[in-house]
Amino acid sequence: MITRLFGFKGGVKPESHKNESSGPPIQKGPIPKRLVIPLRQSIRSTARCLVQPGQKVLKGEHIGEGEGGLGTSVHASTSGTVVEIAPYPMAHASGMETLSVVIEPDGEDRWIDHTPLDLRAVSREEALAWLRGCGIVGMGGAGFPTHVKIGGGQGIETLVINGAECEPWITCDDRLMRERAAEVLSGAMILRELIGAKQVLVGIEDNKPEAIAAMQAAASKLGDGIAVVPVPTLYPAGGEKQLIRVLTSVEIPQGKLGTDFGVQCFNVGTAHAVHRAICFGEPLVSRVVTLTGNVARPGNYEVLLGTQVAELLQLAGPKADTDRYIMGGPMMGTELQSLSVPVTKGTNCVISASPALFPPPPPELPCIRCGACARACPAELQPFELYWFSRAKNFGKAQEYHLFDCIECGCCAFVCPSRIPLVDYYRFAKGEIWARERERQASDQARERFEFRNYRQEREKEEKAAKLAAKAAETRAKLADTGEPAPAPAEAEDPKKALIAAALARAKQQQAAVAPRNTEDLSADVQAEIADIDARREKLNQQDADKAP
Ligand code: SF4
Ligand code: SF4
Repeated sequence: MITRLFGFKGGVKPESHKNESSGPPIQKGPIPKRLVIPLRQSIRSTARCLVQPGQKVLKGEHIGEGEGGLGTSVHASTSGTVVEIAPYPMAHASGMETLSVVIEPDGEDRWIDHTPLDLRAVSREEALAWLRGCGIVGMGGAGFPTHVKIGGGQGIETLVINGAECEPWITCDDRLMRERAAEVLSGAMILRELIGAKQVLVGIEDNKPEAIAAMQAAASKLGDGIAVVPVPTLYPAGGEKQLIRVLTSVEIPQGKLGTDFGVQCFNVGTAHAVHRAICFGEPLVSRVVTLTGNVARPGNYEVLLGTQVAELLQLAGPKADTDRYIMGGPMMGTELQSLSVPVTKGTNCVISASPALFPPPPPELPCIRCGACARACPAELQPFELYWFSRAKNFGKAQEYHLFDCIECGCCAFVCPSRIPLVDYYRFAKGEIWARERERQASDQARERFEFRNYRQEREKEEKAAKLAAKAAETRAKLADTGEPAPAPAEAEDPKKALIAAALARAKQQQAAVAPRNTEDLSADVQAEIADIDARREKLNQQDADKAP
């Protein structure tokens, strides 16, 4: 099916260090004393907690409901009791925390009832919902929900299964392919069906001959339409765009995806998880993790999600001179700030580092603009420009130079003669840009709230004025019906004032109606008394008028 391979730009050849851990078969890790299961297990989405402290749960029980378009479910990794729901540190350079469900296992490892999904009996949408419910996300580290990545299933010609595993030291995919090749390819065939791809290409770096042989043997039983292809060992051949380029010749430009060119790519671990989810109804509750570096028993261990690194490391036995731990590989991994962080769906490796294995980098020297970093960059960026702009906090310029196309592969830093930790600068710049974006969104929301409050107050004022005007019109109409004199124009707008003015007018009329008669012959004393009474009445009327609101 494949007649020739293609090269990608850039790349480096670090020492692979695969032999340290790839020898022994995958071992099953024991059930730990407690599990800390983060509710954030997929990119940009934290699941809504479905359990409470004190609640008993079974293995595979739904404990977090995925929310939003990128949401996916989270499950209990074994049976036990929920003892706490609280923020715990994540494997992140900043040491940031995320809400997690803490489970005390009962040691019985009892599963929920689970059954396979018959793909022929359900619609494509139901199958995708099933994968979402089983919490399947990309296991190569990106954590992108698989049901979203399968997408519309339109126009995809080629499904690429990524078994390159190009990072030094990591061997979990290698062992998975050697030992569970049929299961991985079963998942690949399910993905092919859901995507509607015509062909499946499995790319494996040629430094894994046993994995290539096992996968080729399994593929030969599946007939045409699937090829297992050894690709040259060159870091980062396992990058999605790089592997697609090598296998299909398709060059995916900056800002575009493989799907734009009819190619979709999934990691071998993801294909294996899809197989377990469809063929057994098993949610994703465990994964294979490489423990290697400065340890007594390097190897690959199948461990429950939520196992804390401190407990995990006991399986491999870190040596006394270990001075730090890296989650992931040395090129793209993160130095752990805390050993309480748990294994998540994207955790593929924990490396114990010692000064002998990973000597401290020599002091950083000034950039000499030699261009070595640009020649090594597989994303075709200008790393030294990104470095200058990031260092000068000129984030706008860094974005102009496509900072967000940087895949943080570390090739530039690997070749830099000045030993500049370039990727640290890019991560800093990206973090600052994201933080500013969050601040901008928060201030936009505050401004919108303020403007809405002003608008609401204005609207209420106008509604009140309209009600008063309607009431005044009603009053005027009533007065006109009874034949009483209309109030003065200023009073007409206020129904209360209009009523008072009408009452005063009525009093005046009554007064005129009862005007005394035959008073011409009154004595001077009586006339004076009447004048005094009139004056007092006038005064009282005036006081009433003044009191009116
Ligand atoms: S490799 Fe290092 S010294 Fe050379 S241009 Fe890039 S950043 Fe500068
Ligand atoms: S880390 Fe970024 S800039 Fe450096 S080589 Fe990789 S993609 Fe290029």
